[in-house]
Amino acid sequence: MNYKQQLEVVQGLFIPPDTAMRLDCPFCNGKNTLSVDTMNNNINWYCFHASCSAKGKYQGEKNMDYVNSTFKKKEENSDTEFIVPDSFKILDSNDKAKKYIHKNNCWEAWSWGRADIKYDVKQDRVVFLIRDNEDPTTFVGAVGRALNSITYPKWYMYGNKDVPFKCGLPEHKEAIIVEDCASACAVSNILTGVAILGTSLKESHKQYLKQYDKIYIGLDRDATKKSYDVANELKSYGLQNVHVKPLSDDLKYFNTKEIKEMFNGGENEKR
Ligand SMILES: [Zn+2]
Repeated sequence: MNYKQQLEVVQGLFIPPDTAMRLDCPFCNGKNTLSVDTMNNNINWYCFHASCSAKGKYQGEKNMDYVNSTFKKKEENSDTEFIVPDSFKILDSNDKAKKYIHKNNCWEAWSWGRADIKYDVKQDRVVFLIRDNEDPTTFVGAVGRALNSITYPKWYMYGNKDVPFKCGLPEHKEAIIVEDCASACAVSNILTGVAILGTSLKESHKQYLKQYDKIYIGLDRDATKKSYDVANELKSYGLQNVHVKPLSDDLKYFNTKEIKEMFNGGENEKR
């Protein structure tokens, strides 16, 4: 089998990201001889059976998970307490930050206290503070969106990287997985938005989503395949009422009234 065929077989094993494991080799049927690891979005496989030629390396796309795990390792410890940096100022202190939240339909979520949004004067970012899943009065991290084109990366994660940013109301029975924090805020009067920020679903995301009766996947238009992958992952986790929501544009470009029509308007097409 050539490399490409081998890669196809190994990918077909659907080994989750950041996993190293031993399993029976699908090429030589060797018992527990195949080692596969999927660290940093790569796939490395190797069979220890002497006569087996299974061996290869596939370098995956470098997504946010990779960037975070490679360049920000020192902050990676999720048990460390997050202290809101002094450089986080009130939103009113910066016009660009205020303009950003207006333009991206976060203003309502912010003014009603559904989202904690600040301005990081040090990094020139509008920052969305992440509340703890169990204790919403505690912040465990933040996500900052660059307000100028030279700041890299566009989205920066402060503190804990495992807890999702979410925005909604306690009475919500429905949640939607969205790409970024602004979209989570934009939907938050109608249903709870949960931002995954270009990463894959983490255990804490799935744990958090368990409380909802219905879950939509509302990722960017160009992330359709990813939407279905995420839906399948949630279903195999045991969440059954999961639906991919086709979008004509990013949710952050819609106001509450439009979001309401999008989700409640079709009440008669309920399934
Ligand atoms: Zn083998």
